[in-house]
Amino acid sequence: MIPYGKQYIDDDDIKAVVEVLKSDWLTTGPKVEEFEQAVADYVGSKYAVAVNSGTAALHCAMYAIGIGPGDEVIVPPMTFVATANCIVYQGGTPVFVDVEEDTLLIDPDKIEEKITPKTKAIIAVDFAGQPCDYDRLREITNKHNLILVADSCHALGAEYKGKKAGSLADLSVFSFHPVKHITTGEGGMITTDDKVYAERMKQFRSHGIATDCREREKQGTWFYEMIDLGYNYRLTDLQCALGLSQIKKIHFFLKKRREFADRYNKTFANTDRAEPLTIHIHALHAWHLYIIKIKGPDRNYVFQHLRESGIGANVHYIPVHLHPFYKNRFDTNLGLCPVAEKVYKEIISLPLFPSLNIEDFKIVMDTVKERLSSGHI
Ligand SMILES: *Cc1c(COP(=O)(O)O)cnc(C)c1O
Repeated sequence: MIPYGKQYIDDDDIKAVVEVLKSDWLTTGPKVEEFEQAVADYVGSKYAVAVNSGTAALHCAMYAIGIGPGDEVIVPPMTFVATANCIVYQGGTPVFVDVEEDTLLIDPDKIEEKITPKTKAIIAVDFAGQPCDYDRLREITNKHNLILVADSCHALGAEYKGKKAGSLADLSVFSFHPVKHITTGEGGMITTDDKVYAERMKQFRSHGIATDCREREKQGTWFYEMIDLGYNYRLTDLQCALGLSQIKKIHFFLKKRREFADRYNKTFANTDRAEPLTIHIHALHAWHLYIIKIKGPDRNYVFQHLRESGIGANVHYIPVHLHPFYKNRFDTNLGLCPVAEKVYKEIISLPLFPSLNIEDFKIVMDTVKERLSSGHI
């Protein structure tokens, strides 16, 4: 089976992890700060806070900006469930705003009608690796005094008007799950220019305790204070060493993803039975996912055929508001976001990852083309 996404691990990555295994610190050692600095430098932010998943990173962001019961946060439905779950972790209410049909990014024209006195923030999702229209979003958040959070889990290396994802919102969130641009097994990071947010998140990732054990060792003290309720969201030194080794290869990873996406785009531009997503002129895409909308044959039929042919096609995503939890808890039913609901029935994600070899890529292209032209309508 050719998967839709996969990690790329080389001997340097393995060596980096083994070195940490032989060192004094397996967790919360020097590699954490080094990795944070590397990500901050790469995206162009002042601070970066490492945590043990993208989901934990989203939770930290919601904590940092003080989301609590009674607060509303605007999110698009076309995303992984964690984007909305993090609001619920803090007792807040996700308010779903529909996406643009051609990009599947949150539709800026539909945001203001959902803003109420309870609205505190917007979480924008750089869907598939394309940055949102941050100038438009910034206009809205400035006008209504809201905080702008970016779920950039798809978008490490993406740019908007020459600025990198990670430097475009008040807080930006990344994931280092194996299918993402770089991996630490599980892992995540929040980038921000705000020192207070960064310090709040560092405390939150370690039980709400004010200092970490390395600081206490340096100061020669056992004393610590727990200031607020936090979690164990720490990323280990082992994982940060892997992340440091991975981020050195980010240019190569992006180059491969962009090359494959380019070839897919050229192929599907010439068929009326499939349609690639639109790329805005202000965007440099990072291509976490390659998605087409199936316009002729039934999507489920194409999906099934691809799976039977050994191609691990996927669907990203079931609109979040249609999951039973959201329907039951927040009464979010069919009809709430009609564009997402319609497009959900058409989309399919095709294999895209740096170690995809050209022979497999050609098999995927030929199988998709064949199925599109022969498929029932
Ligand atoms: C992967 C992902 C997450 C969650 O990241 P984990 O590291 O798996 O917890 C959140 N949001 C989006 C859009 C993602 O793609």
